[in-house]
Amino acid sequence: MSDLKSGPSVNRSLQGEGSPEQWLAAITDLSEDAIVSESLTGEINSWNRGAERLFGYTSEEAIGKNVRMLAEPGQEKEFDLLLGRVLHGERIDHQEVFRRHKDGTRLFVSLSLSPVRDAQGKIIGVVKIARDITQRKITQESLDESQRALEELRRQQERSRAEVIASRRFREMIESAPDAILEVNEAGQILVANKTAEATFGYERSELVGLGVDSLVPIAYRHAHAAHRSSFARAGKTRPMGQGLNLTAVRKDGSEVPVEISLSPITTSTGVQTIAIIRDISERRRTEEQVRSLQENYMRELQARHEEAERLNRLKSEFLASVSHELRTPLHTIIGFAELLVEQAEGPLNATQLRFLEHIRRDSEHLLGLINDVLDLSGMEADGLTLHAEDLNLEQVIQQAVDGIAPYASARVVEVRRGEIPSAKVQADAGRLRQILNNLLSNGVKFTPAGGHVEVSAVLDGRFAEVCVRDTGVGISAEEQERIFEKFYQVGNASGGVREGTGLGLAICRQLVEMHGGTIYVASKPGEGSCFCFTLPLSTV
Ligand code: ADP
Repeated sequence: MSDLKSGPSVNRSLQGEGSPEQWLAAITDLSEDAIVSESLTGEINSWNRGAERLFGYTSEEAIGKNVRMLAEPGQEKEFDLLLGRVLHGERIDHQEVFRRHKDGTRLFVSLSLSPVRDAQGKIIGVVKIARDITQRKITQESLDESQRALEELRRQQERSRAEVIASRRFREMIESAPDAILEVNEAGQILVANKTAEATFGYERSELVGLGVDSLVPIAYRHAHAAHRSSFARAGKTRPMGQGLNLTAVRKDGSEVPVEISLSPITTSTGVQTIAIIRDISERRRTEEQVRSLQENYMRELQARHEEAERLNRLKSEFLASVSHELRTPLHTIIGFAELLVEQAEGPLNATQLRFLEHIRRDSEHLLGLINDVLDLSGMEADGLTLHAEDLNLEQVIQQAVDGIAPYASARVVEVRRGEIPSAKVQADAGRLRQILNNLLSNGVKFTPAGGHVEVSAVLDGRFAEVCVRDTGVGISAEEQERIFEKFYQVGNASGGVREGTGLGLAICRQLVEMHGGTIYVASKPGEGSCFCFTLPLSTV
């Protein structure tokens, strides 16, 4: 190649025996490759045999023509680009390009180009060597193609292997599902059954396949089932079967098993098939049954205990009522005679005797109060109390209660006063309402240190009047507030050491207020006094 680069262009018409040009021409002619030289504008100057073979043009046809005739249609630009690079002095080796044979076929050639210079080094033309690599290219392409096909084959194989594995896994999954799974055709014939189906229905799989699914349905429902089956296939929707019903399936041995069934249709080439998933719920039913019977036993026991407690309570109330009654009679005698003695109608008594008598009288009265309270409460609990409700002037009733407590309050140096009281009428039993007010007022006085005060006020609230007794006494802690309405409950030290009474007053108040259809509650803070409020229905007239 290097001699070509520096040598002159070769023309078959060159003269001179044994000249280097002739030698060169002979060598060129021998070459298997196409060797072509051309002018700066691409005009063909020489065309060897190799070029004739490769491109199909004889040298006579080619010489003088423009080399662009070898360009593939539309590729002339690339042609000029290569030429341009060579004319700039570049040498191009083994460029793989497409060319066109005289008969129009496409050739794939490996092209080397080199500029040809004159003695002064000026470029005067181009020489090209083209080697046909079409065959090689075809071979390469078909090799690539087979490589690709092989690759694709391998991928396909992998895909189908994965599919096989997936479908095997799927089958295993279906087989080992905890539910029986059946595929049933439109005629109601079982096509596929999993392993759990064998255990659930007690059939071998070979017996299940082909069996009419209706034979798994209790005889009483078989007829209806066949109708349901065809309507299900028509509706084509997944749904539970017999929702809300206790379904059972019949096993091969005729025994019945409680089941839960869900159905879903699938469309296949042979029609709409139904997939039935059947769960044996015997265990769940057993547990539900156990829970239910436990619950029933528990409720029965609870009821029995409740009745027993009520009976005992009634007995207790009756007992208390009769005992209290028996105690009251002699107490009245004691108090009566003590009072007579105090009056000294039967002769004078000395100061000590009078003091002793006063003790007897006071404690007897306390005992009588206690017995009256017990009697009251037990009477209420034994439903022995009837209210005589009437329309009462609220202001009047409260005033009477305030007046009634005055001697007791002044003895303890506690002021009892009236706050705001609207004029209104309430529906209440006069005696019982006085009892409530008296209880609250005497508690207020009792638990308020000397110098304090107790105030009664009322407001109207809808269909009720709310009466409040507020004191400036010792107050009650939040925990105690919840308990003071219980029977016999007395706050220990929180009452500031005050300990007289029975612990029944508030229990009686609550009973009475509730019997009137009202409610009672307390708001208090230790050291800041208490406020007891209760409601009573207003008169409707
Ligand atoms: P008691 O006969 O002891 O007064 P109550 O049922 O009337 O019985 O009251 C229960 C307890 O509630 C009282 O012993 C007292 O500790 C507390 N209590 C009631 N009223 C007041 C009050 N106004 N201030 C402080 N404590 C009170």
